[in-house]
Amino acid sequence: MNATLSLYLKAFLRLLFPEYCAVCGKVLRYGEPIMCHHCELNLPLVRFNDFTDNPAARLFWHSVEVERVVSLYYYMPGSPYKGPIIKMKYHHRHDIGRYMGRLAALVWQPKGFFEGIDYIVPVPLHAKRIAYRGYNQSEMIARGISSITGIPVKTRCIKRNSNTATQTHKNRLDRWDTMRRIFALVPRYTEGLEGKHLLLVDDVLTTGATTASCARELLTIKGCRVSILTLAMAHQ
Ligand SMILES: [Zn+2]
Repeated sequence: MNATLSLYLKAFLRLLFPEYCAVCGKVLRYGEPIMCHHCELNLPLVRFNDFTDNPAARLFWHSVEVERVVSLYYYMPGSPYKGPIIKMKYHHRHDIGRYMGRLAALVWQPKGFFEGIDYIVPVPLHAKRIAYRGYNQSEMIARGISSITGIPVKTRCIKRNSNTATQTHKNRLDRWDTMRRIFALVPRYTEGLEGKHLLLVDDVLTTGATTASCARELLTIKGCRVSILTLAMAHQ
């Protein structure tokens, strides 16, 4: 099929099966893949000039030593910009993760955020959650970033433990210890990560506690450094 015909066919299919903006819900026009131009132009972008001292980085200052921290955009309770996150997590829209990941890379690459980073590591989901959802949304964001930066993604080096069901039977001290070990390294897949700079990718940053737990576990790899990128962050 020639290119022009293919374009017409795609436009025609859009008429038959319209797609909707992940933010405002309006019908998307041809060439608008995830959100309409208006919503994309008005995306409340995070504008940090410093990767080590900014509202996102400050969330980690007292819990874990990380290198650089950024997010793509702010969202507040009730904001329509929660839409892409909800659709990505609960409505099987893994394409949103990849698209937003590419957007984050396009915003932060010119500012040098990815310089010296060796691998991208998405915050893992528990295997049962992946089986239910079909994918890990943080991995989709990571894949989007990788498609722009060329930095490889490592998904097997760290896993999420399952422990919530048994926590109620433990005393407080044990429970704290369980919480601290939400994540565990998988030794056979951490080979070659010694001395590397890893970019930990998560979907949303609120208190930073879960992301910090994951970063702490990665930092037990000898000589490893960790930076963090999240898609959205709660507005302070
Ligand atoms: Zn829109």
